[in-house]
Amino acid sequence: MSNSASRSGQQLASLIQQQGISNTKVLQAIANTPRQSFVEPALAHKAFENTALPIGKGQTISQPVVVAHMTELLLEQGQAQSVLEIGTGSGYQTAILAQLYDHVYTVERIKSLQFQARRRLQQIDLHNVSMKHGDGWKGWKSKAPYSAIIVTAAAASVPEELLNQLSDGGILVIPVGEDQQMLKLIKKQGDSFSSTDIANVKFVPLVPGDLD
Ligand code: SAH
Repeated sequence: MSNSASRSGQQLASLIQQQGISNTKVLQAIANTPRQSFVEPALAHKAFENTALPIGKGQTISQPVVVAHMTELLLEQGQAQSVLEIGTGSGYQTAILAQLYDHVYTVERIKSLQFQARRRLQQIDLHNVSMKHGDGWKGWKSKAPYSAIIVTAAAASVPEELLNQLSDGGILVIPVGEDQQMLKLIKKQGDSFSSTDIANVKFVPLVPGDLD
C-alpha cells in the first residue's frame, strides 16, 4: 500500500482514536487502508473524513468510526481465523477485516458493487477474500460454521440462518431495526444465544428478496 495512502489513513486512525477506539490492530488497519480507493474519484477528497459516503446504487460506505467499532467488537471476542461479512458494499470494511483475519468471506446482493470491490481489493494486494453474489439473509452455508459474522446493513430482525451458521462460542455483530436501529452483539453458547445492545446506529437496510 502506498505511502500517501498510509499518511492519510494515519490521519483517519488518529481521528478515530480520539473518538474512543483503542485497539491498536484496528487502528493500524485503518491507517494502512487507502479509503480514497473505495469511493468515487469525485469524493476522494472526503475519504479521510469520518463520514459515511455514497457508493452508488443507493448504498453507502460506512462511517469509519463505526467500521472500527464493529471490528473492535469482533476482535474482543477472541481469536477467529475467518470471518463472514454480509454487505460487501465498497469493500472497505472487507479490506480492514482482510488485514486482521486469515480469510474473509463476504456476501453482496448488488453485482456491480461486488465487482468493483473485488477490483479494489486486488489493487491494494489483499487476496485472502472470497466473494459471493447472494442474499445475505441466507449467509454462506457451504463455508459455515463461522466463529465471527459481521453484518453491515440493518436487518429488520435477526436472520435465523446467520444464527444457524455460528459455531459454538461464535459471535454475530449486527445492526437490527428499521428507523431506529440498535447494534447488537449476539453470542452462541451451546444451544442458546445471548444478546447485548451496543449502540444506536444508522445503516442502509439489509434488503430481503431478489438479487440485482
Ligand atoms: N461494508 C460496506 C457497507 C456497505 S452498505 C462498506 O464498507 O462499504 C451495505 C451493503 O449491504 C450494500 O452494498 C448493500 O447492497 C448490501 N446489502 C443489502 N442487503 C443485502 C442482502 N440481503 N444481502 C447481501 N448484501 C446486502
